[in-house]
Amino acid sequence: MKDLPFIEELISVFEKLPGVGHKTATRYAYYVIEKYSLEDIEKASDILLNTMSHIHKCHECGMFTTSDLCDICKDPSRDHQKVLVVKDYKDLISIERTGQYNGVYHCLGGLISAYDGISPEELNLEQLERKASKGEISEVIMALSLSPAGDITASFIEKILRKYPNLTVSRIGYGLPAGSDLEYADELTIKRALEYRVINRK
Ligand SMILES: [Zn+2]
Repeated sequence: MKDLPFIEELISVFEKLPGVGHKTATRYAYYVIEKYSLEDIEKASDILLNTMSHIHKCHECGMFTTSDLCDICKDPSRDHQKVLVVKDYKDLISIERTGQYNGVYHCLGGLISAYDGISPEELNLEQLERKASKGEISEVIMALSLSPAGDITASFIEKILRKYPNLTVSRIGYGLPAGSDLEYADELTIKRALEYRVINRK
């Protein structure tokens, strides 16, 4: 049976979610019209609108926040001299969950990839370079995936940071599965990878 015309728009909203195909989106759409009251919908749309209008990226690290700086960048108990470079917020959350890292982060917002059409200019690198040039940081740890894109990106950043000889630059890698995202690594693997990071130069 074809979808009822008035529900097609609702289905297309759910279809935009990752991992949701047409069949699942259709199920969600019918679930909503059958089970949700108008009040539920009003509450959900208020929450969505409120979140979306207040959230933006932290001026320092690029993580999502509702204020100028995220909670990690604001935290005086963290080591602000140490910066862990990650692809995005998902990797940040995976590392943060281990409770093994006490420095701050830097979210790139992607990895350099010809395949995905992401060029170096599109990465969020400005604040990292500013901190390095002002001598505000002493160590940069690259925590990017062991993939061609992760490798190219790490090399690109290392090249930029070579200008600052007092900076220690390292890469984590020990035990991480090749090609996979940090997001999917377990806590023990991330903990070991952080402990056994490889310093390229001092
Ligand atoms: Zn931040």
